[in-house]
Amino acid sequence: MAKDKLLFTPGPLTTSRTVKEAMLHDVGSRDDEFIAMVRDIRRQLLELGGVSQTSGYEAVLVQGSGTFGVESVLSSAIPADGKALILVNGAYGERMVQMTARYGIATEVLRWAENEVTDPSAVEAKLKADSSITHVIIVHCETTTGIMNPVETIGPMVQAAGKTFIVDAMSSFGAIPLNLAEAGVDYLISSANKCIEGVPGFSFVLARKSKLDTCKGQARTLSLDLHAQWAGLEGNGQFRYTPPTHTLLAFAQALKELADEGGVKGRGARYLANHNALKAGMQKLGFIPYLAPEVQSYIITAFHYPGDANFHFEEFYRRLSQRGMVIYPGKLGHVDCFRMGNIGRMQPADIAALLVALEGVLKEMSVAIPVAKPKR
Ligand SMILES: *Cc1c(COP(=O)(O)O)cnc(C)c1O
Repeated sequence: MAKDKLLFTPGPLTTSRTVKEAMLHDVGSRDDEFIAMVRDIRRQLLELGGVSQTSGYEAVLVQGSGTFGVESVLSSAIPADGKALILVNGAYGERMVQMTARYGIATEVLRWAENEVTDPSAVEAKLKADSSITHVIIVHCETTTGIMNPVETIGPMVQAAGKTFIVDAMSSFGAIPLNLAEAGVDYLISSANKCIEGVPGFSFVLARKSKLDTCKGQARTLSLDLHAQWAGLEGNGQFRYTPPTHTLLAFAQALKELADEGGVKGRGARYLANHNALKAGMQKLGFIPYLAPEVQSYIITAFHYPGDANFHFEEFYRRLSQRGMVIYPGKLGHVDCFRMGNIGRMQPADIAALLVALEGVLKEMSVAIPVAKPKR
């Protein structure tokens, strides 16, 4: 079989051979071993968030991609008379606004430009001005740009105001440390195929038990009912509907490899090395990063299109893909950018290979880039 392309994307990601090999088994969803494995996965996920069942948190696995997990929380956690405040500085924040609109949930939105972090003082002022807000919702790393939002500052503020705090930590969980209890997080959502380096198939929700209890009978859908899903997993240990058994086998192996790498810290260090190699190499070629360095995460990096008229993204993408390197288009409202992920089973040497391929492609396309100015 031909060598797989390297995925410099925000997911699905390049995974290890051993994670893929873990799927070479068929397991019964009611089998004791499988049920024990699922329990262990749930326990380990809480541990990664610095919490446990004893400290009042629960892990719920939800079939589907990451969006299904977000939708499960938003459609289950906010009561009919509740009101959401959604903090938006990118496409994933906007997606959650679409969700609450779909459910007819009263919603307030605070928006920032895609290169600006969410501002805690604006959130505090909004909570003071509108006491009817019940839930505050934020994206940890907005994968649209790779910007990091100050979850650890906003969370305790939301908690002090007596509101529920929901965090989409899809692209950060497992690689950027976050202690749920300290950050005042009531619900955190992430998925199998991002920084934990599993394969796609399910999302997971880490929820404060006292809040999860209030979701009972409140969900707007059957299959995404977060409380019912938890009750199933906690009761007989089973998923309510067909579980992604192979994905779970792969995930158990991925968690082992995360621990072997030194946990969240070790993984974060590798991703940071990837990001630094990418940024240095791209800047040397003349590319300009979209974000200011102080707000840029080591998860994914957006770069401006070069100014040369010979640059066409589709062709650039295709030629890179032919060389085994898959990058990602931009998702920005007003600026032409493309993105490169630093996450997945990837080393700085792979980044170096990407940069060599990229330089070759630019030559083929006769794209000249002026050397980037040191400051934006
Ligand atoms: C990837 C991602 C999602 C959605 O994940 P899907 O698996 O594509 O449904 C949501 N939020 C953020 C921040 C993400 O990075």
